[in-house]
Amino acid sequence: MKFPAFDYVSPTSLDEVVALLEERGDAATVLAGGQSLLPILAFRLAAPELVVDLKNVPGLDLIGVGSEGVRLGARVRWCDMEHDATLATAHPLLVAATRHIAHYQVRNRGTVGGSLALADPAAELPGIAVTCDAEIAITSGSGERVAKADDFFLGSMTTGLEPNEIITELRLPAWPDGRRWAFLEFARRRGDFALAGVAVFYDVDAGGQATGTHIGVIGASDRPRRLGAAERVIDGSGVGDEAIEAAAVAASEAVDPMQDFHAPTDYRRGLVKTLVERALKQAAS
Ligand SMILES: Cc1cc2nc3c(=O)[nH]c(=O)nc-3n(C[C@H](O)[C@H](O)[C@H](O)COP(=O)(O)OP(=O)(O)OC[C@H]3O[C@@H](n4cnc5c(N)ncnc54)[C@H](O)[C@@H]3O)c2cc1C
Repeated sequence: MKFPAFDYVSPTSLDEVVALLEERGDAATVLAGGQSLLPILAFRLAAPELVVDLKNVPGLDLIGVGSEGVRLGARVRWCDMEHDATLATAHPLLVAATRHIAHYQVRNRGTVGGSLALADPAAELPGIAVTCDAEIAITSGSGERVAKADDFFLGSMTTGLEPNEIITELRLPAWPDGRRWAFLEFARRRGDFALAGVAVFYDVDAGGQATGTHIGVIGASDRPRRLGAAERVIDGSGVGDEAIEAAAVAASEAVDPMQDFHAPTDYRRGLVKTLVERALKQAAS
């Protein structure tokens, strides 16, 4: 189908974008890589009066690595992250998860901001953001506000973003040396959205026990979630087989997977159990 008629602008500053969004409200929509917005327009699922292209806005494509953690500008693409040498050591979990996203062509265009704004419950980046207690910087005419990722995602394809707001940055806390981690997902074909996916990490204290365990899941609830019950099983343990099995059971009991034409609820619940078990074994090995 053809796009509906809309006006198109390509501002050259963030101030200009913000002014347009303040003026036009939900009649305007921003365009990042177009990987979802263009099909949405073509299928007439949205009909904005104005499309505001972010491609010429400076500063949104920066990847920053420092002692405070990793900062990803909203227009950073999957391929930028994949090929950034500093990120591989600064945040290996993030890079590992990114490699599961879509296909080569989509990874050349899809962006951090577009993924966070879409809030697909099976998307990798929102899952990493929630699992890692990341923050999302959001700009509007009133200035910048910072939302915790866990508060930002409200449900399937639903966020706390207002029509006059734009995501500018994702901020991930620093990743210490020696952290144990794994990211695993299951999709029907390589590059498809996952039926379910799991991110785990923990640090090891002087006594060899796990501490600060984070276990997050995608594709098994209406939004990415951390699984506190499973985390508590691992925390303070030596991450042996018994604790791993108990954490996997706790994880599968904590999720409330949707049923759709890809997989029934019980199948996704079983996947979560298997993926948590395998991810913890991988992290511990
Ligand atoms: C075939 C295919 C397979 C895919 N597989 C996966 C997958 O396996 N895993 C995965 O995670 N994703 C997957 N995706 C999604 C893809 O990776 C992108 O995340 C998604 O399409 C968003 O694309 P985009 O960044 O180009 O944003 P756009 O399509 O340009 O925008 C998407 C939405 O986000 C809004 N938006 C964009 N940037 C901002 C911003 N800075 N602030 C506020 N709102 C903003 C737009 O207004 C629009 O509503 C897939 C997409 C396709 C087409």
